[in-house]
Amino acid sequence: MKLSHMVTAWLAALTAAVAILAQTKQPQDEEYARLVKEWTTKPEFMSPLVDHLPKAAAVPSPKDVLGYHIGAPQKLTYTSDMAKYYQALAAASPRVRILPAGRTDEGKEQLVVAVSSEDNIRNLETNRGYLAKLADPRGLGDAEARRIIAQAKPIYMFTGGLHSAETGPPEMLMELAYRLTVEEGAPFDQIRQNVVVMMAETLEPDGRDRYVDWYYKYKIHETGEPDRVAGPPYWGKYIYHDNNRDINYSQVTMRNWLKFYLEWHPPILHDLHESEPFLFTFSGQAPQNPSLDPILYAELPWFSNFEMTKMIGYGMPGVWDHAFVDMWSPGYLGFMASNHNGMLRMYETFGNGGANTMKRNVAPPAGDEAPAAEGGGRGGMTSREWYRPLPPYKEVEWSMRNNTNYMETGALSALELTAGFAPTVLENFYRKSLHSIEAGKNEAPYGYVLPAGQADMTRAAFVVNVLRLQGIEVGRAGAEVKLKEGTFAAGSFLVKLDQPYGRLAKILLEVQKYPDPNLRTYDDAAWTMGLMCHTDIREISDKAILSAAATPVDTPSIDGEVKGSGPIVAVLANGANSLATLRWRLRNLRFEAIEQAVTVNGAELPAGSMLVEGTPRVRSEIGKLGLKAVALAKAPEVARHAVDLPRVAMFSTWGGTQDVGWVRYAFDHFEMPYDLIYKERIRQGNLRAAYDVIVIPSQGNRGGKSIVFDIESKGKPLAYTKTAEFPSLGMYGESDDITGGMGLEGVLELERFVRQGGVLITLGSSSYLPAEFGLTRTVEAAHPTPQFYAPGPIVEAEITRPTHPIFYGYSGQTTPVRYANGPLLRVPLEDRGWVLMRYAGTEQSVLSGLFKGVAEVHNRPAILDVPIGLGRIIVFATNPCYRWQNLGEFAMLENAILHYKAMPAPAAPAAPAPPAEKR
Ligand SMILES: [Zn+2]
Repeated sequence: MKLSHMVTAWLAALTAAVAILAQTKQPQDEEYARLVKEWTTKPEFMSPLVDHLPKAAAVPSPKDVLGYHIGAPQKLTYTSDMAKYYQALAAASPRVRILPAGRTDEGKEQLVVAVSSEDNIRNLETNRGYLAKLADPRGLGDAEARRIIAQAKPIYMFTGGLHSAETGPPEMLMELAYRLTVEEGAPFDQIRQNVVVMMAETLEPDGRDRYVDWYYKYKIHETGEPDRVAGPPYWGKYIYHDNNRDINYSQVTMRNWLKFYLEWHPPILHDLHESEPFLFTFSGQAPQNPSLDPILYAELPWFSNFEMTKMIGYGMPGVWDHAFVDMWSPGYLGFMASNHNGMLRMYETFGNGGANTMKRNVAPPAGDEAPAAEGGGRGGMTSREWYRPLPPYKEVEWSMRNNTNYMETGALSALELTAGFAPTVLENFYRKSLHSIEAGKNEAPYGYVLPAGQADMTRAAFVVNVLRLQGIEVGRAGAEVKLKEGTFAAGSFLVKLDQPYGRLAKILLEVQKYPDPNLRTYDDAAWTMGLMCHTDIREISDKAILSAAATPVDTPSIDGEVKGSGPIVAVLANGANSLATLRWRLRNLRFEAIEQAVTVNGAELPAGSMLVEGTPRVRSEIGKLGLKAVALAKAPEVARHAVDLPRVAMFSTWGGTQDVGWVRYAFDHFEMPYDLIYKERIRQGNLRAAYDVIVIPSQGNRGGKSIVFDIESKGKPLAYTKTAEFPSLGMYGESDDITGGMGLEGVLELERFVRQGGVLITLGSSSYLPAEFGLTRTVEAAHPTPQFYAPGPIVEAEITRPTHPIFYGYSGQTTPVRYANGPLLRVPLEDRGWVLMRYAGTEQSVLSGLFKGVAEVHNRPAILDVPIGLGRIIVFATNPCYRWQNLGEFAMLENAILHYKAMPAPAAPAAPAPPAEKR
């Protein structure tokens, strides 16, 4: 204790001395210096880079526009005020320019601010051209590349506010922008000279404003950890925290950022998050994706160690790297940089979920990113480790200003390094781009083929469109292509890997071979697009693909077709998810589904194909939706049922809207209408009068209890309602009190709904609910053992009742599914007839990624159809609607809804004979 006191005192003295040296001759904002010192809770949480703020004539500081200095207690800034500040800054200084980057889901502008020297800002477009050449160096040549590198300036782009509860980064960036604009002397002159700094105002503007509303309504009253209240139920429109896991860029806002990245090619993108004490700087720990360039893996610790060196040198405790997040999944938003031969950088700083100063217990750590025991090393985040030589304190009084000091000092250190080694950064960017092209020329695989003629080409087009969003070049073969792997018809999509983003194409399309089963990973272990979409994608080891003729495709859409003639059309159930879209678009027409496959005039109609009168409108929609149909003289003579549209509700808790958001997004995309309902509607009862189907998407992480009891009430109601003062609240649902959950009376209402003939569908982790709360009385839902570890592998599942309507559009006895960590289900022998699909649970059944303990799922049901009273519960232990990824499974959910009236009686159990009624 004594020693640490002495060290602290010594560090404080040293910090003060360095601060004096760092002062320049510029006039200083004395008030700023006094206030930030006051707001910084310990002297060692300050650095000489940020303990002062120069004044510059006619250039507004954040306070001049906002009325407060950055890091002021109890102040958070709305996006409109941030924009106001940046516009004032740009108007006042030729060193600043604002670049629009699109509009969000809710119509807010996405802004990027560029700061550099006056010359660099004037030459922004020229520089953009230079970086584009380094990003795609085909035909460039080393001499020309060298000439460009000598002239170009690397863009270092900061992004913050992706996660709306992590409120500090967008505040800090305003001060950083000002400081970079006006401060003279080292390292600022060099940074402006050698680097173009870009800053996204905030990555999720919709969520920012909603969170700031919520903060001013509730969280501004927080005094410490015990009275912290839950966050708002929504950030952005759909997916909350998972905006950082949108690997296929489904969300408008995220797609705009990718587009911006590919237009400007920042060699470095630095994403600022909050969760870990006091500053974690990403160094790219294992498991690392081996397809990415070794240069990247050298650069990451180069930067993080420099920041640690500087900040520990300033005496700042708790700066560390190495642990916490790894380099396996390519799906994080910031990975758009490393996926495109740039450098992803990432911080986690310590935030309080707002701007209140409060005492925090660091061990065990709090934060939103993850259960931090992982990666934290022995004893959580406060132990001394080789990568954490000066650990964070176990307890700390923490403020927004501390957080700002850490982030900004780190950011300036990183910029100092970039300014000192700008040619190295550019050279590496060029080399990584070049290596990507060479990798596709020199080593197998050389490409991928999505063969033409697949039963459903809409999902092939989906894959191609995602690749195109990512800047990957795709061609369409004009004639047959003969390769070692087979002969592919004209119209097949070819992805050649000898292109700048060829390695990214490989990463997205290949089977994930996890490098070390003893390593854990922060997110998914597998994402193989062909397996996720049930689309045939062939890996090609034949170099001849590189010279195959192909026309570049932009964003392909698949035209549907109606073959033959006759008044009735049979729309084929081929797995295309747009079949549901067709049914709803033509809601006034009568559709019938055939219950078994049949061949008519040589055309094969799979079970589930839908018959409808072939009006011009029907034919036109079939065309637009990429569906395949056969016109017939009359309906085939097989069993069929009417496909009447159900009234659908989707249930969401208030505390777990994220996974629901993915399902909402998919339903909206496929134009499947639903009422989004919450506990309020469930408790109201009489559900059967209003709905035919209720879907409970996966949500919560405490099994059924999460769904039933949801956010714990702390006595005071938390209203999520729109008011004049807080207009961003009350969107996507309203509640006078989001706490408390549906409760046991809600469960009773669900049971009543089912008994009265409703169809309840539970997905993923929500499937604990029916078993745990006795809705399905004989079904057991167990949790796996602690040794079990299945971070989203793709596995083979066995279809046990292939004639069940949920398998319309599927062929074969097995199908790939993403393992969703739903319950380990078990049913008694006499109820085995309820099992529609089960996990093989063998090593060979793991198709992609890591699965430790796969034997625990051996023969476990993956989907059940449990009849109860007049209705039924369809229990998916899988999640057929996971993050806009497993579009191959989605039709199972669609079918369960479309054919809700036509579910057959349970299959006869194998043996022995069961009692007549099991209840
Ligand atoms: Zn975050």
